[in-house]
Amino acid sequence: MKMVKEHLTYIKKILTGNARISDKQKFSVIIYSVAMVHIFLACVFGYYRVLPLLIFNILSVLTYLSCTLLVRHEKLLPVYWITYLEIILHSFVATICIGWQFGFAQYIIALIPVGFYICYTMNTRRRKMAIATASAFCATVAFLSCKLLSFYITPVYELHMLPLELRLYIFNSICTFIFLIVFSLIFISEMKLSGTQLRHQNAILEKLASTDPLTGLYNRRSMDVFLHQALQSDSGFSLIMCDIDDFKKVNDTYGHDFGDVVLREVAMITTQQVGSNGYVCRWGGEEILILISSSTKENVGRIAENIRRNVANHVFELNNKWIHCTLTLGISTYKDGDTIEETITNADYNLYRGKRNGKNRVVA
Ligand code: GH3
Ligand code: MG
Ligand code: MG
Repeated sequence: MKMVKEHLTYIKKILTGNARISDKQKFSVIIYSVAMVHIFLACVFGYYRVLPLLIFNILSVLTYLSCTLLVRHEKLLPVYWITYLEIILHSFVATICIGWQFGFAQYIIALIPVGFYICYTMNTRRRKMAIATASAFCATVAFLSCKLLSFYITPVYELHMLPLELRLYIFNSICTFIFLIVFSLIFISEMKLSGTQLRHQNAILEKLASTDPLTGLYNRRSMDVFLHQALQSDSGFSLIMCDIDDFKKVNDTYGHDFGDVVLREVAMITTQQVGSNGYVCRWGGEEILILISSSTKENVGRIAENIRRNVANHVFELNNKWIHCTLTLGISTYKDGDTIEETITNADYNLYRGKRNGKNRVVA
């Protein structure tokens, strides 16, 4: 009962489409589903006294139950081959005993896509595609041989009962289609999940590659891209080069960790003040370069002054020590014919003038 419940839970997960199903769970779904089909068939053949098929189906159920042990120990490839072999053998025995028209060979067809899916998604197995292709080839040969065999032999048991023939044929078809549909759904849900994971990982990688880990600001590589975009936009831009005043003293007096706190919080204040007006980048050790886009060029002085004031008013704290820090900022505005380097040098020069004239100021 517990196993059936688990089985239904997996199928529910598959149908709702949002769960990663492990290899072991997939194999469990297959084993229990096929075992259930065989239990039903054992009852049918018992009722109609087709002894070889009754025995075969009982043995199949026992085989699949023992396969659960293999699955538990992650011996999945033997289970894969046992399932393949059992389904093919069953089709042969059924064809010999009662004939082709009951539709048992249809299960062989279902083996091909399910086999490819299982091999393709199996975690550890090497040469997966070779295994899937080889087994698909075996399945094709088995299907055709079964059909050929049906032309040359007369079934041992003459079950000339149209309703039984029809019912078993429909039962076998439904089971085959259910297997195909369920595994197609698992495949689609896994594709969706992989797509989502890939997008998520890409976003993380993109963030790692474009930002500075300490401050979360853009790194120089990203800033180079933004600067070239700004240059190509033809509408001009402004730069603000910021440098923390007497930062060495902070490090020397309060330690490098305190210095990091100051850097992080200065970065935060700067980002807040710039908002959507431009891009903030960690240009060097404690130098921040801000690119202000063309549309807000006139406001650049106001933005710089807001940054300076907010940093100067901020209290930096670590381990019950509180300090104030200040920033000096140099502004430059891109002029036609200038290069990016020249615009940066101008901002740097203004920053230098600010430092020389007493720090904690904005120089344009
Ligand atoms: P000034 O006012 O002239 O700018 O003086 P300053 O002491 O700030 O001098 P400068 O800008 O040259 O100092 C840079 C210092 O920044 C040196 C280095 O130890 C420190 N620094 C660079 N990167 C980091 C970092 O990631 N963390 C910390 N804590 N310190 C850093
Ligand atoms: Mg400094
Ligand atoms: Mg510096």
